[in-house]
Amino acid sequence: MKNLKNDIVYTSKNTLDLGLNLGSEGNVSVRRKDTIFITPSGIETATLKETLISEVDINGNVKNNKKPSSEILMHLYIYRNRPEISAIVHCHSMWASILSCSRKKIPSFHYMVAEFGGNDIKCAEYATFGTRKLAKNVLKVLKERNGCLISNHGQLTIANNLNNALDLAVSLEKLSKQYYFCSFLKNTKILSSKEMHKVLKLFKDYKIKH
Ligand SMILES: [Zn+2]
Repeated sequence: MKNLKNDIVYTSKNTLDLGLNLGSEGNVSVRRKDTIFITPSGIETATLKETLISEVDINGNVKNNKKPSSEILMHLYIYRNRPEISAIVHCHSMWASILSCSRKKIPSFHYMVAEFGGNDIKCAEYATFGTRKLAKNVLKVLKERNGCLISNHGQLTIANNLNNALDLAVSLEKLSKQYYFCSFLKNTKILSSKEMHKVLKLFKDYKIKH
């Protein structure tokens, strides 16, 4: 448990060091059995420590008197509906946030889009932060995906552990920046479903073997 809370603190501070968040932006959580461990509400990430991490059950009841992140519903909806997921990283990173304002998906302009589970990376419809509506919108675009943009807000990634969720957040930020510039090029070509299918199959085989 101590290590788990340390991992959350370490990952949250890493989102600052990597330039994915500023101040108290974003949030990070891990699921262990029926308990969600999540960064607290309104705390500067630079001052975060393990004793401040909030513990919440799968129904949203706070178990340790530490107020969870305002986006707790987003995390709970994902954990309730995606049993294979045990870690979530949410960021307001620069390029993902810029792209999210166009409220469009990222198409298969680069084969690494397949890292997110399919031919595109979708953008959740806008709703006020912290609301049930936003939680539902995010869950919807994560169907068969492990990351998404969130309209006029930022990005969210999910994985089986924190390291992988953070790696995906960095990757989504990079793809967002690349696509931002590609969208201005006259001749940007989008990979066909057939080509993406080949990549998705290779990624699946790669994961099974390694
Ligand atoms: Zn946010």
